[in-house]
Amino acid sequence: MSTNTLIPLNRNAAEFISKPKKMLINGKWVEALSGETSQTYNPATGEVITSVAKGGKEDIDRAVNAARKAFEEGPWPKLKPNERAKLLLKLADLLDENAEEIAHLETLENGRSVKFSSFVAPNAAAHFRYYAGWATRLTGETIPTSRPGDVFNYTRREPIGVCGAINPWNGPFMSAVMKLAAPLSTGNTVVLKPASETPLGTLRLGELIQEAGFPDGVVNIVTGPGTTLGNALTLHPEVDKIAFTGSTDVGKQIMKNCAETIKKVTLELGGKSAHIIFADADYEVALKNAANAIFMNSGQVCFAGSRLFVEGKIYDNFVADLADYAKTYKLGNGFDPDTILGPVISAKQKQSVLNYIDIGKSEGAEVITGGDAAEDGLTQGYYVKPTVLGNVRNDMTIAQDEIFGPVVAAIPFHSVEEVIEMANKSIYGLGGGICTTDVRKAHKVAHAMRTGNVWVNTYSLVDPASPFGGYKQSGIGRENGSAAIDAYTEIKNVWINLD
Ligand code: NAD
Repeated sequence: MSTNTLIPLNRNAAEFISKPKKMLINGKWVEALSGETSQTYNPATGEVITSVAKGGKEDIDRAVNAARKAFEEGPWPKLKPNERAKLLLKLADLLDENAEEIAHLETLENGRSVKFSSFVAPNAAAHFRYYAGWATRLTGETIPTSRPGDVFNYTRREPIGVCGAINPWNGPFMSAVMKLAAPLSTGNTVVLKPASETPLGTLRLGELIQEAGFPDGVVNIVTGPGTTLGNALTLHPEVDKIAFTGSTDVGKQIMKNCAETIKKVTLELGGKSAHIIFADADYEVALKNAANAIFMNSGQVCFAGSRLFVEGKIYDNFVADLADYAKTYKLGNGFDPDTILGPVISAKQKQSVLNYIDIGKSEGAEVITGGDAAEDGLTQGYYVKPTVLGNVRNDMTIAQDEIFGPVVAAIPFHSVEEVIEMANKSIYGLGGGICTTDVRKAHKVAHAMRTGNVWVNTYSLVDPASPFGGYKQSGIGRENGSAAIDAYTEIKNVWINLD
């Protein structure tokens, strides 16, 4: 058990959670129409953080109405691109100014170590700055048609309209940022629903959005239960597009709901990413990559390298060394300055992860390290030891289901062809990693992997300029880069008769 003194909670964060949190609708902080509230919990201790408005369908209605009005009538559609850019840049500056508070709110509600949550605000600011640039660069095309007669044919990029966004709890602040920067830069309005477990950072972002001077109704945030709010938003006839990040099962329901009114939909869903370690890899780099790819954020990362394929001739040594590496991670409260791995998000998630480990054992996997809840004074929060499972086959449940916890399934392979086939045998296709010093092999395998993102001799890199998303049941569409501009704009084609 650590005897370290915890980093004191940032004063502004303490002030923020000292009052019950309301929702942002049409530029005002409001309670749920029902007057109901729910509580949020610190996963490191299980204690209540604060209470939050428990919105209902009627609150989604008023948020959507506000977003629709702001889109159709408010100052938003009339703002010039450079004025939209200015607001996004102002917001980025405010994120920099409030970076510590944002980091502490993220650690408080999500559990991740302050060491890592301190990157959240700088990343968020970079994201808004990148999309501020896009606001003034949205151009159409002039098209040389082959029709008889003299015509001028061109395209315009126009905002889609009211965008509904639904987010998970595992990276709550950046998820919110990724649901705002691209749609706002392109002139849309947004109704955002954070995960019930982690609404606080998003609500603080709402305050900064107001401070930056965004017009009322352009960004609305509704907090409350997933199914009620999610159904209300995804079925709402006045919502033009839904962007969802979360589990594949909920993503399927959202697609069905969106079909009712043919909403545009982008989905960032689950993963079971293959991380392939070839025997010719730089051993130390590969070891570090393999460990960080699965254990960061206690494995609660959609692109976590949770299926680890290791070439047969180094398999036993590599898996044993990975287990030793995992034991060096300090597990604890994210406010302990030495903590690397925080808790998982909830008692339910902890139980789910432990159940998967039991399933793995019953299927014949061997627990090389971890395999149970952490003790050592960590009995109050939701801690699971980093776990390495050996003797795994690719067809086992633990190699196919997304566990979303600090659990890696290590599988041996003996040829490039075999590992490509196994890596692609998954319903998911989000991330993938390759460690090798052979550049030809790196390209060959990267091209063969049916995933949206591949990292070679590194892992987990994400950048606002670089498209992110999944193949197969890991999603539809891409966030970041120019791909997100496509996702948040309609292309209008105009014909002018010049005869
Ligand atoms: P989840 O699907 O349970 O919940 C996600 C969001 O959907 C939450 O806000 C929840 O309240 C809401 N929701 C729940 N039921 C709903 C319904 N019927 N209709 C509409 N919304 C509903 O996911 P989670 O447990 O919060 O997050 C973990 C999952 O998210 C994992 O599967 C992970 O891989 C995935 N994820 C994917 C990415 C990506 O970019 N691909 C990123 C982060 C997380």
